[in-house]
Amino acid sequence: MNRRIQLAITSLAWRFKGADVARRYEELMAREYWPVEKWRSCQDELVRIFAAHCYEHSPFHRRRFASAGLTPSDIRAAADLPKLPILTKNDVRQNADQLLADNFDRRRLRLGHTSGSTGAPLTYYYDASVTEYTEAGLWRDFSRCGWQGGEKIAGMWGLRPANLLASRLRKAICNAVGLVYLSAWKVDDDQFDRWSRLLNRARPTVLVAFASVGGRFAHWLIEHHRSVPSIKGVFTTAETLYPPQRQALENAFGCKVFDYYGCQEVPHIACQCELGRMHVNPDMVAVENGPADELGRRLLIVTGLRNLAMPFLRYAPGDTAVLLEENCPCGRTTPLMELGISRVSDVFRLPGGKAYPSLYFVVRLQRGGFEGVETFQFHQDRPDHIYLRIVRNARFDGPAEKRLAATAKEIESEMDHQARVEIAYVDHIEQSASNKHHYARSDVK
Ligand SMILES: [Zn+2]
Repeated sequence: MNRRIQLAITSLAWRFKGADVARRYEELMAREYWPVEKWRSCQDELVRIFAAHCYEHSPFHRRRFASAGLTPSDIRAAADLPKLPILTKNDVRQNADQLLADNFDRRRLRLGHTSGSTGAPLTYYYDASVTEYTEAGLWRDFSRCGWQGGEKIAGMWGLRPANLLASRLRKAICNAVGLVYLSAWKVDDDQFDRWSRLLNRARPTVLVAFASVGGRFAHWLIEHHRSVPSIKGVFTTAETLYPPQRQALENAFGCKVFDYYGCQEVPHIACQCELGRMHVNPDMVAVENGPADELGRRLLIVTGLRNLAMPFLRYAPGDTAVLLEENCPCGRTTPLMELGISRVSDVFRLPGGKAYPSLYFVVRLQRGGFEGVETFQFHQDRPDHIYLRIVRNARFDGPAEKRLAATAKEIESEMDHQARVEIAYVDHIEQSASNKHHYARSDVK
């Protein structure tokens, strides 16, 4: 199809997608370079409204206010939030009905489920305005690479197609609204070849990718001397983005990589700017540093300011992060944070009581060298046993095998031989239900 006609159709679809989203987008974009005082008062006002709403309409939160001896007049600003107790995933699971606000018609609410990749799944509710803000917020993130409204967005979706018709229908819908659908359910060289051709035909300007699959695709493009010149920015999410993956993506696509962070139940928490610093979105969430855990990592606490139907007030999504007292030279004054690279649950506990964050294993393998390794996973299935699953690539050879064996022995020795590290060469590593790749996971709680 003629490119101009296609762009016109996409633009139309973009507008059709909802005047409300476009309006939200304008609203959010106007704040991008606000001075710090303006941001602070905007967030404080949102927090005040949100806290009062929780107290008035959510039976669970009203009880929590009462047990802490508080009323909404005690929560006047974001800085007052730590007066309230933390909302855990278990609290949400056990009190879902009581959390729901009584001024929403439940039949009109949308239902969401977390994948449960790091614990039992969670069910949550939200209303249409959350979707509008989430969409508009994503567009604000995309604007950081130069993306403009109406330009196509390519995304890797890891959903298993229910059937061929559903899969085709999904593709057709995506196409109609300017999305390029890359099925990441199963990836191999043939799939990368198809993606490369499809991207060059459709010419999207933004690519949304899982860090693991995106990184592998980037290596494939480099090795096969292919390029996708239309891409202005690659946005990674849902998984930890390691420096070698960022480097490969930047080299393959010739543009910057922006890592963005949110969880399904509280979306749109933060996104990196063009300088690679992660900025919090204070008009979507209020973020706090919670208490430190046994490994000294600070729990991340978020208050999702946009979901009034099921309010997540001082919620701990299970990630770690550090809020920074610094300014970013990019000119944005929103708070900066550094996302902890491992989730709270990603800890390997050994029989002697010692605990290692999952990052330790990844860094240890990286130090030994990734040559010959297509992808990998450390998996602790018993307290004294860890699998190191390896998918080999074409460069795998004898020296690579020796190096990996030596690294496994070194890890055993550093752990005082409390666990055995067994290397297993496999063709494929099972992904989690949401198709996230976990480089390290433990079944030992
Ligand atoms: Zn910045």
